[in-house]
Amino acid sequence: MEDKLQELKTRMATVMDLLMAANVLDWDQETYMPPGGAQARGDQVATLQELAHRFITDEAVGKLLDDLAAYEQELDYDSDEAALIRVTRREYNRRTKVPPALVAEYYRTKALATEAWKEARQKSDFRIFEPLLDKMVEIRHQWAECFKPYDNIYDPLIDEYEPGMTSAQIEAVFSGLKPHLVALVQDIVAHQDAVDDSPLHGDFDPEAQMAFGREVVAKLGYDFERGRLDLSAHPFTIHFTRDDVRITTRILRNFLPSCLMGIIHEGGHAMYEQNTSPHFYRTPLAFGASMATHESQSRFYENVIGRSRPFWKHFYPRLQEVFPQLKGVSLEAFYRALNKSQPSLIRVEADEVTYGLHIMLRFELENAILNGQVRVADLPKEWNGRMEAYLGIVPPNDREGVLQDIHWSQGYIGYFPDYLLGSIFSVQLWEQMQQDIPDVTEQIEAGKFDAILAWNTEHIYRHGMKYTLPELAQRITGRPLTWEPYLHYLRTKYGEIYGL
Ligand code: ZN
Repeated sequence: MEDKLQELKTRMATVMDLLMAANVLDWDQETYMPPGGAQARGDQVATLQELAHRFITDEAVGKLLDDLAAYEQELDYDSDEAALIRVTRREYNRRTKVPPALVAEYYRTKALATEAWKEARQKSDFRIFEPLLDKMVEIRHQWAECFKPYDNIYDPLIDEYEPGMTSAQIEAVFSGLKPHLVALVQDIVAHQDAVDDSPLHGDFDPEAQMAFGREVVAKLGYDFERGRLDLSAHPFTIHFTRDDVRITTRILRNFLPSCLMGIIHEGGHAMYEQNTSPHFYRTPLAFGASMATHESQSRFYENVIGRSRPFWKHFYPRLQEVFPQLKGVSLEAFYRALNKSQPSLIRVEADEVTYGLHIMLRFELENAILNGQVRVADLPKEWNGRMEAYLGIVPPNDREGVLQDIHWSQGYIGYFPDYLLGSIFSVQLWEQMQQDIPDVTEQIEAGKFDAILAWNTEHIYRHGMKYTLPELAQRITGRPLTWEPYLHYLRTKYGEIYGL
């Protein structure tokens, strides 16, 4: 059986080389490529992706997986070998169960729906997007049906982004949290005057912003010997191997947090990839566990650490040196400004507290649409009604409402919940870390982040894709994903800031 396992590894190594090479091209496109390169780059990436797809879905891989099934049972579930077979099988099934004709129709519709979405958004008219979205929902419905049996047709789509999670599990977490979150937001709204974020607005030299961001993320543990920082329209992290994990950010000259918090957020994603096990080189295990697990790390560094008082006790004097205009702003005033919370229309600009409600409304609508309880035509109405009920504000138009995200035009249905699951998980992990490292707060105040990185690496990073989020939650904290720590964290932090 060792020779069959070796053959599987060899085949997957080829696939990984193709995918990582495509990543290099993607990175270049998002950072330094001149606009003229776009067409050829699209062809090149498509060819690499197509080749990778052919290698993964080769009948020989299916045969190898069948032959290895009995051997896999004998292996320790926690072994690298069992994980390699398990994760390769998951990917193989995902890519072979959907008929090629449906995949082709999906890509055709995706291209048209994206163009329709852009036009609809620009004209702020949902009706332009509606027929294509209707088609996309129908295609994703058929797609999910290829993975029968399931309890909810939403489940196979969720599983694409978050293996091992179901809509019922997410529903249980979200519906537990929701009424408390709505109440907390209302409470904060009633005390809006408590926080003034004007110190964050002003003129902040772009180069100084980048230099400070580099300094901070290096201290957190991002390894510049195995990474680099560049600019792009939207911040992102990408890796070609654990020894070359790159991040980007963007700079707003008149708003200080954008560049820095972008760097810290992407730094969280990147430290994860930099610290997967070196033994996973050229295997499908050399990735973070899932979308939500990844987001738990980026949000942990960005919010739990990077927007905390101990963190700024350490870094604020240095920030004041870099930007002397902050000399008249106290640490306390700066900390509060950085954590200002206020209901707003746009998800990507939302603060820590209100963010979750933006996600819940999307999760509810996706579930209802796939199950035929809401019609695509009624989405604007349903969207606005929930915005009013949860956040107390109503979008004045579709552009700032139902048309704000690109995801649905791309067919990414089932993706949104992960953003919030990541935040929720980040605090469950933080509670455990505080128990395991009793002086962690003092360490942060002293600017020491080694023990935090070591804890994350030991419990999460080194395992790569070996475990799913539910498995990690159970292994690390002894219980399933749970929302209570997250609510406690928000209530404590914002209760103090807003005097609730
Ligand atoms: Zn992220």
